[in-house]
Amino acid sequence: MIYLDAHATTPVDPRVLDAMLPFLRDQVGNASSLDHAAGRRTLDAVDAARRQVAALIGASHKDIVFTSGATEADNLAIKGVAGSAPDRSERRGDHIVTVATEHRAVLDTCRHLEARGCRVTVLPVGADGLIDPAAVEAALEPRTILVSVMAANNEIGVLQPLAAIGRLTRARGILFHTDAAQAFGRIPLDVNAMGIDLLSISAHKIHGPQGVGALYVRTRQPAVRLAPLFDGGGHERGLRPGTLNAPGIVGLGAASSLAATEMVAEAVRLSSLRDRLLDGLRAAIDGVHVNGSLAHRLPHNLNVSIDGADETLASRLDGLAVSAGSACASGSIEPSYVLRALGVPAPRAHGTLRFGLSRFTTAAEIDQAIAIVRDGVERLRAERSAQAASVPRP
Ligand SMILES: *Cc1c(COP(=O)(O)O)cnc(C)c1O
Repeated sequence: MIYLDAHATTPVDPRVLDAMLPFLRDQVGNASSLDHAAGRRTLDAVDAARRQVAALIGASHKDIVFTSGATEADNLAIKGVAGSAPDRSERRGDHIVTVATEHRAVLDTCRHLEARGCRVTVLPVGADGLIDPAAVEAALEPRTILVSVMAANNEIGVLQPLAAIGRLTRARGILFHTDAAQAFGRIPLDVNAMGIDLLSISAHKIHGPQGVGALYVRTRQPAVRLAPLFDGGGHERGLRPGTLNAPGIVGLGAASSLAATEMVAEAVRLSSLRDRLLDGLRAAIDGVHVNGSLAHRLPHNLNVSIDGADETLASRLDGLAVSAGSACASGSIEPSYVLRALGVPAPRAHGTLRFGLSRFTTAAEIDQAIAIVRDGVERLRAERSAQAASVPRP
């Protein structure tokens, strides 16, 4: 099986697994049970991971809160800000600005708050999938408490102009959250240079384990105040109670440290493989359309719509794991809301494939993948024209 679905999840790097195994096997210890050396060793490992994660975004290790993943981090950031806005202040904020192409973890969280009295502005994107900072600026109000714009999109891979947005929010004292699940460890991020106050991270998108992530929460200039999602203990500065997932956190730390040393070279390698994939698809198949800006894009992402294809294409490609651009919602097949936000017409959006290249993807696999997609599209087109021919003409 050729695995090209890295935006859904990535295989755990064997070096990450090696770092984790002692904490699943011999190294017993609760990171908050410090009356003995075993607990202290686990705490030391968690602290080392905290530094590894922080280093990748130019943050202090004190500003990293470990979570179960980016979904929880998004919830904690957005509900946390909304829940901590001072009640009795005359200037109580209640307005959030976000973008139509955000992950469900952000959009659904904003909807949840909207049902409880917050106002949410969901900004449109251009045909290239990018948000215009001027549109963010125009949406800001005196009562805006938070702007949430993702760093890189999970379907089309486009990179949003974080630094420009950070300058706008910083100038007005509005908090800036970014869901960086796809960007962390893939492209350089710097919370200070980009004016970011809250940043969501997931381990399993960067060859770490599933079920662990982090939220960067700025503690200085300004100190961000968050209401926790859970009650139950003082762990993680009181923001995320519960026994820490030490093996997972060690895995996230190891994955972050590998990304720190390998990210730049890996981006060069993966973007050249991605270009090979696109060139190969275009040469083998006519009617291939790239969705989203190619210039402002993750190195390992490709998202194309193919004329004459439909939502069944991805699941018909034997030996190739890629994702369709449609989500099956309550029995009916809905085209991706991300593609719809770009203005991609529904019929074209249905015939979409999302490719996510992995650290372990080879050029030979890319060439095989091109041939598998070409054959799949040819079969599908032949079936469709046979069906069309069998329809009795009036
Ligand atoms: C995968 C992903 C998430 C969810 O991350 P989990 O760690 O699986 O909860 C959130 N946002 C984006 C952009 C993602 O790609």
